[in-house]
Amino acid sequence: MNAKPEGHFPADYRSARIAFIKACTAANLGSIARVHPTAKARDGKPLFLDTATIGPRDAQSALLLISGTHGVEGYFGSGVQTGLLREGLASRMPKAAKVVLLHALNPYGFSWDRRVDEENADVNRNFVDHTNPPANEAYEALADAIAPKDISAEALKIANAKLRAYSQAHGAFALQEAISKGQYEFPDGLYFGGRRQGWSARMLYDVFREELAQVKKLIVIDFHTGLGAHGEGEMISEDLPGSAPYRRAKRLWGERVKSSEAGESVSVPLTGTIDKAFPAWMRGGELTFAALEMGTVATREGFLALRKDNWLHRVAGTAHSAADAIRRELRAAFYPDTLEWKRKAWAAAHEVVGAALEALG
Ligand SMILES: [Zn+2]
Repeated sequence: MNAKPEGHFPADYRSARIAFIKACTAANLGSIARVHPTAKARDGKPLFLDTATIGPRDAQSALLLISGTHGVEGYFGSGVQTGLLREGLASRMPKAAKVVLLHALNPYGFSWDRRVDEENADVNRNFVDHTNPPANEAYEALADAIAPKDISAEALKIANAKLRAYSQAHGAFALQEAISKGQYEFPDGLYFGGRRQGWSARMLYDVFREELAQVKKLIVIDFHTGLGAHGEGEMISEDLPGSAPYRRAKRLWGERVKSSEAGESVSVPLTGTIDKAFPAWMRGGELTFAALEMGTVATREGFLALRKDNWLHRVAGTAHSAADAIRRELRAAFYPDTLEWKRKAWAAAHEVVGAALEALG
């Protein structure tokens, strides 16, 4: 037992993976590694998506915990997964249920401290019909201002003035929607949902098919960071208030639950999310899905970090002298490496996972 939850949070992707596997082994669990066929880690070595399953293979109810959907946000989710294992998750399982831990859905982003995958795609916008992807006309109109090719103070001033004008005409919510709901036209832009199904999306379905296809009752918690007030945890549901899944989420997680589709949440409604993919895979089973979103820095600050990261990889190249500073700034925007934040993040995660386990018991 580790009385200090901050000790569960990793220093980087490689040590996160080692700690996760070690915690699995210590709990007498095997883990399965899926190696990335092309992308490499920042240390030049291979990248892996790892899974571990606790409980009977043929269980009818399950809890799926996903970390690293948005790469760099994996410091949080990975720390939670490893911490839960270290603190005896395997011994406090409901008898007839299983828990599937999916570690580093987007290992490239985790390793490189980026939110996107190796194709600049946002994994949580990637689950669409790529022959007929959703439109985002507002992004198209603002593309150069959202993801500028020049990030000098002068250029950013002009770009920001354009965004401000849009916000004044249509509202701040509409601007956030234009930027972040997902776009499929600008492969080198922000919140790009991909031109095809990415490796992470394929692997997620593979894990579902292997581990969860027989399950009739599934709870999913996808661990995210970056939106909301610093240290506050929100359970983002994409279900509308009044619907059965939303009511189930409320029963589980209470006031933390906010519907993005209904405008209650720190997030705007999104396209191509994992949440939207699962009901079709479940074929009628009972699904309760939420993203635990931990607030980090102000939205404006996180957005600037994302624009710099985009510029670095699109224009300047990773050999640029500012590369390391930009990488660290992005990491800090999605992972405040402080004692206070880690304790709050751990407490929120511990609470929502505990409620889910109880509901499966
Ligand atoms: Zn996220």
